[in-house]
Amino acid sequence: MKTIDQANFANKKVLIRVDFNVPLDKDFNITDDNRITAALPTIKKILKDGGAIILMSHLGRPKNGPTEEFSLKHIVPHLSDLLGQQVEFANDCIGQEAIDKAKALQPGEVLLLENLRFYKEEEKGDVEFAKKLAALGNVYVNDAFGTAHRAHASTSVIAQFFPDAKYFGYLMASELENAEKVLNNPARPFTAIMGGSKVSDKIKLIERLLDKVDNLIIGGGMAYTFAKADGGNIGTSLVEMDKLDLATSLQQKAKEKGVQLFLPIDNVVADKFANDANTKIAKTGQIEDNWMGLDIGPESVEAFSKVIEASKTILWNGPMGVFEMDNFEKGTKAVAEAIVKATQNGAFSLIGGGDSAAAISKFNLTSKVSYVSTGGGALLEYMEGKELPGVKAIND
Ligand code: AMP
Repeated sequence: MKTIDQANFANKKVLIRVDFNVPLDKDFNITDDNRITAALPTIKKILKDGGAIILMSHLGRPKNGPTEEFSLKHIVPHLSDLLGQQVEFANDCIGQEAIDKAKALQPGEVLLLENLRFYKEEEKGDVEFAKKLAALGNVYVNDAFGTAHRAHASTSVIAQFFPDAKYFGYLMASELENAEKVLNNPARPFTAIMGGSKVSDKIKLIERLLDKVDNLIIGGGMAYTFAKADGGNIGTSLVEMDKLDLATSLQQKAKEKGVQLFLPIDNVVADKFANDANTKIAKTGQIEDNWMGLDIGPESVEAFSKVIEASKTILWNGPMGVFEMDNFEKGTKAVAEAIVKATQNGAFSLIGGGDSAAAISKFNLTSKVSYVSTGGGALLEYMEGKELPGVKAIND
């Protein structure tokens, strides 16, 4: 793997694609800076070498050009604090101001460019736009795992302008290493825990995992599609009616491949989709009309925890219930705690990004698992076996 360890960046102008797509509150305070801190080792190594850094990122999903809401200038004060030095800012990612500021940049200095997605050309993968970005530096580093599954101008197209000077940053490298560690030669038993709202988002990954895991635990909203396929009553729980056959065939495949499949035994059901709903426990397949399953129940928690705690490799992607509401977080929290226990007993635990990362952070357990990925979609696609454009662009 071509990482930044293989180069010295003294007197270079290094363009780093980072993923600073962090959540901001209405006063533009950063509410979770994980994605920024995750990029610091790369930034620090290049500064230490005596390089100058030009950071490129997107923020949010701006639709029509520049807006205050999606300006990366809101990141500058916190990034400056984290680095212990003032970070310069260019109000446009291309154009004269960016050119002048990049030119003036001295070794050891950092410049952050305005949101790349203020230009439609970024997501379109426009070559001319990529060329303008490329002209700002003489080395390209990709450390944006969260967007590595996108063939955008700054994540993949730009790499062609640096045939002999393109590298993976430390974050990209460790994301890929950790995913590989789980996919190849995992210590056994290997347990995958899948949850979240839809089975349709995770079909490919589940199918691939059936060739690799010993145990597959399925919870969250997607479990009701399985319960429905088994002929059970699921009330008004989330269901994908067009995926019933798929649910049945996944169960069949698990059997054929000798994978133990664990589905919820019981559920916390509610009379409305709200934290203050009335709740009770219902066995799987026996949910009354007008009630919906919003979390796994206590028997499921016990059964799932037992399997998890006995595992030596764990992959978790997707919550067991609507963990954002305090009254439906128990199942997700218990799974997180079981993963922590297993980790303390020597297991390797990889937490998929997105909602599982948000959940583990809500429970303050992030530091007690082996690795929390910064990529939601990117990790899913990588684990499905797809070649990510951001990875391919460096490897080619
Ligand atoms: P995903 O983006 O597919 O990983 O799904 C994550 C979302 O699934 C979270 O926002 C959860 O609130 C939601 N979720 C989990 N379990 C349920 C459930 N039983 N009913 C409805 N939504 C759920």
